[in-house]
Amino acid sequence: MKAAIFHGPNQPLKIEEVETPQIEAHEILVKVAACGVCNTDAHYIDHGVPTFKKPPMILGHEPSGIVEEVGADVTNFTAGDRVLIPPVFSCGHCDNCRLGRENICLNMVMLGNHIDGAYAEYTKAPAKDCQHLPEELPLEESSIIADAISTPFHAVKNRAQVKPGDSVVVFGCGGVGMNVVQIAAAAGGSVIAVDIVDFKLETAKKLGAIHTINAKGKEDKAILKEIRSLTGGGADISIEAIGNPKTIELGPAAVKAGGCHCQVGYTHHSVPVNAGRLMFREIEIKGSLGCRPVDYPKIIEMVRTGKIQLEPVVTHRFKLEEINDAFDLLRKGESLRSIIVF
Ligand SMILES: [Zn+2]
Ligand SMILES: [Zn+2]
Repeated sequence: MKAAIFHGPNQPLKIEEVETPQIEAHEILVKVAACGVCNTDAHYIDHGVPTFKKPPMILGHEPSGIVEEVGADVTNFTAGDRVLIPPVFSCGHCDNCRLGRENICLNMVMLGNHIDGAYAEYTKAPAKDCQHLPEELPLEESSIIADAISTPFHAVKNRAQVKPGDSVVVFGCGGVGMNVVQIAAAAGGSVIAVDIVDFKLETAKKLGAIHTINAKGKEDKAILKEIRSLTGGGADISIEAIGNPKTIELGPAAVKAGGCHCQVGYTHHSVPVNAGRLMFREIEIKGSLGCRPVDYPKIIEMVRTGKIQLEPVVTHRFKLEEINDAFDLLRKGESLRSIIVF
């Protein structure tokens, strides 16, 4: 099969012919229809964040496709089924899995990180972790549910716990942040979207943001002042979705006393915290990682019923051979979500 091979940081992916994965009894082989292009991959390629599997390897953790073959023990899928593969597979028996927090499984295996991923014609996954995609959902665009939609869903619902009427400031309206905006709005939040790119802020408005702030060239103080004046002193919740140390620092400062900052974006940098302010105002800071398996059917139903939109977020489509162009576009910040289609 054809796959985009990652040979190490600071070099383009190379399209090569490799062996099609062999499945075990509990796994399914999936003919990939599409795979979302994620910042996490850019961290491996551009910033030297190490993958657990040593390169050469296949990246890509946001795939949808058609089941090609099922292992001997698989009972929940048959060949020909439309399937969504989540980015992380859980062990099912560690303390966190038993608590229903499989997204922080102590033995998690991430597609395109611990094992070969889905920038390839075929990929495989444990059947127990995979989700059925209904006929009404577009197969290719639905790939972004795997991560770009599910990660914001978990952050909004389970971690930040956005309630109707809550003011929610979202820092960063990229491929993940834009879905934080639309899911927080769907949950009844009054969303203030912050970004530095006008077209992203316009899309954020279309997806439910009440206010937008273009932070380009603005001082931190001015941004905070604007948020405080829009929210009567500070937002109930802030969610940072880019992993920029500057906006991470702004997050807890943008919430009112008793407010919550939820960190969704990844950075390998440390960020200073004003501990006195945190203490005196009882501000909570929570991390948010991925999504629990139990939430995927709910997300899929929200997409099916139009409460979450895929089309405005999937801005670009590339063939596997053009995958490096997709990453160039991501680096320029000109796309929301690109998908690789097969
Ligand atoms: Zn991702
Ligand atoms: Zn586990």
